[in-house]
Amino acid sequence: MYSREGFTSPHLGRFASVAIDPIEKKPLRRWRPGTKILSLGGLHCNMRCPFCQNHSIAHPDGPIGEYKIAPHKLAETARNSSLRSVAYTYNEPSLQAEYIFAASSLLRDEGIATVMVTNGMFGEEVCREAAGAVDAMNVDVKSFDEDSYQKLGGSLDVVKRNVEFLVDGGVHVELTSLVVPGISDSPDGFAEMIAWIAKVSPDIPLHISRYFPAYRYNEPPTDISLIEKLLNIARNRLKYVYTGNI
Ligand code: SF4
Repeated sequence: MYSREGFTSPHLGRFASVAIDPIEKKPLRRWRPGTKILSLGGLHCNMRCPFCQNHSIAHPDGPIGEYKIAPHKLAETARNSSLRSVAYTYNEPSLQAEYIFAASSLLRDEGIATVMVTNGMFGEEVCREAAGAVDAMNVDVKSFDEDSYQKLGGSLDVVKRNVEFLVDGGVHVELTSLVVPGISDSPDGFAEMIAWIAKVSPDIPLHISRYFPAYRYNEPPTDISLIEKLLNIARNRLKYVYTGNI
């Protein structure tokens, strides 16, 4: 519960990074293109991807500097800037769902939108509230294989259920597929994912992202020829497909 005195939990409203990014960096390509977004990154994550590019804040080795920002201060800061949207990004934002939902209504009073860049691993109650409070999301679909997902600490079924609910609820949803060798580089699995996305809606934008070694994963970067092959598979069924990290 939030009041001007703060939250009941001391963990809410703490951020390790604050930046202004082009919206395309989230990535979002079909929502407010060409605009800039205030980006807040918190701490920790509910998954453990060995290739985590944001491990310094998602899985920190020790204490790191934090900013404490109350929702009404965030709304004031955004109001006094020319930015019309705020993103919760870099780590898993649903860990701060209570904060996001409290801030969203204050931001909306100022005409400012809320964005989550998420792994999609949250419960049904958070998903229902997000459908009412969040304007746009990028959901990272880690793999289309339940066993691989569970090894990363997530569940494909949960992510699919949440994406379907959010799209149905009118949230602007874009998806990312990071093509990691040995985890999410099967063209057959990728084609299955595309069939599912097309069934939910062929209008959902998809970002196919090239992997580079990071954190505890040292496989070589994704072959460009594989990215091109996956791009063709996706373009047969979806209207908006982009590549990233090329
Ligand atoms: S879900 Fe994202 S932030 Fe969390 S461990 Fe995986 S890559 Fe890192």
